[in-house]
Amino acid sequence: MAIEPAARPVTEGAFSGTALRDDFPIFDTPTGSGMRLVYLDAAASAPKPRSVIEAVSDAYSHHYANVHRGIYELSEDATARFEGARRKVARFIGAPSEREIVFVRNATEAINLVAYSWGRANLRAGDRVVTTQLEHHANIVPWQQLTREVGATLDYVAITDDGRLDLDDLRTKLAAHPKLLAVAHVSNALGTINPLSEIVELGHEAGALVLIDAAQSAPHMPIDVASLGCDFLALSGHKMLGPSGIGALWGRRELLDAMPPFLTGGSMIIRVTLEGAEWNEVPYKFEAGTPAIVEAIGLGAAIDYLEELGMENVRAHERYLFERAWQTLGEIPGVRRLGPDDPDLHAGVISFLLDGIHPHDIATVFDSHGIAVRAGHHCAQPVMLRYDIPATTRASFYVYNDLDDIEALGKAVVATQMLFA
Ligand code: PMP
Repeated sequence: MAIEPAARPVTEGAFSGTALRDDFPIFDTPTGSGMRLVYLDAAASAPKPRSVIEAVSDAYSHHYANVHRGIYELSEDATARFEGARRKVARFIGAPSEREIVFVRNATEAINLVAYSWGRANLRAGDRVVTTQLEHHANIVPWQQLTREVGATLDYVAITDDGRLDLDDLRTKLAAHPKLLAVAHVSNALGTINPLSEIVELGHEAGALVLIDAAQSAPHMPIDVASLGCDFLALSGHKMLGPSGIGALWGRRELLDAMPPFLTGGSMIIRVTLEGAEWNEVPYKFEAGTPAIVEAIGLGAAIDYLEELGMENVRAHERYLFERAWQTLGEIPGVRRLGPDDPDLHAGVISFLLDGIHPHDIATVFDSHGIAVRAGHHCAQPVMLRYDIPATTRASFYVYNDLDDIEALGKAVVATQMLFA
């Protein structure tokens, strides 16, 4: 891995994104425009470093068999690697035990697991769930379905003009004593970093369990569930340099133990008779069927890569790029930036609008400059409704981005404005 020694002049924060690009083969692939790829869409999905791609290839080539089944060396080897990945996820988020890590496909499935299993066992007519207007659809629609089904009420915490959660409104919504508060750590649509410790404390004071959607934070900053004190946390591997098709739900052991299974079938049982079945212990109770074995091993390799960089350094790098990009965009007339100004409250995600130009047109022009950004509602339509806009253009940063990328972003904005002037 190409980490710049700390003694070298700091050019892009804690390490050099330029140097790290060598680790990512996607940057060797020529773009259709023939220009260097400037990848500013990590919030949708992140490119994979060679070490992850090689870990996946190696697992398929040399260590592949089904897990938890075979009484033969290859299966025991695959099982050890798969379970090793679970331990890495646990360590990465500060979970007290790897038994509290349930492998799922992605953050969406993790949240659905809680909604189906915990939700349907614990929510009754008249109960309340609180989520926020800042959420990705993955942290809204499962709660809409659940509350409709059981006759409970779903409340949404409002957002301020600059894209922060309105904590007074949170206090108001919590005063009705909901059973669950489901909130994103970082907004994928605005980049807002929510004050989690305060939110978890307020939720618990009101008697609610607190679920954190960490899809946009786990890849980019240190997370420690033990010190946060939350009850559930959801993440997606593909956004943190890992393969697609693998994610994790962390839940407090006593909660997971008490929850009924979500999907049923093989692996999640210890005994089946014609009369019924007895559930396996956690986390296997929630992992029906053959899991995403190699994807989990790949996620473990992604965690190794991130831990070698250091999550404090990853955050510092992105904070630095955010500040430079925020300033660059702010200096261009006709650009409207969304979300908080304060770099402590803003992750490496910038949603912006250009006067009179549709985000899809912006993204198309950017593409001709080799720049990949996301344009649309970002699966957060309630955020778009809040600001009365159909869509935004979103640039999101990760470890391989550098100041050249920020400069390219600024130049592409000006070129787009000139094209549509
Ligand atoms: N929550 C947030 C905040 C997200 O940004 C995303 C993905 N854009 C999700 C949940 C869902 O992630 P996945 O599609 O990997 O399930």
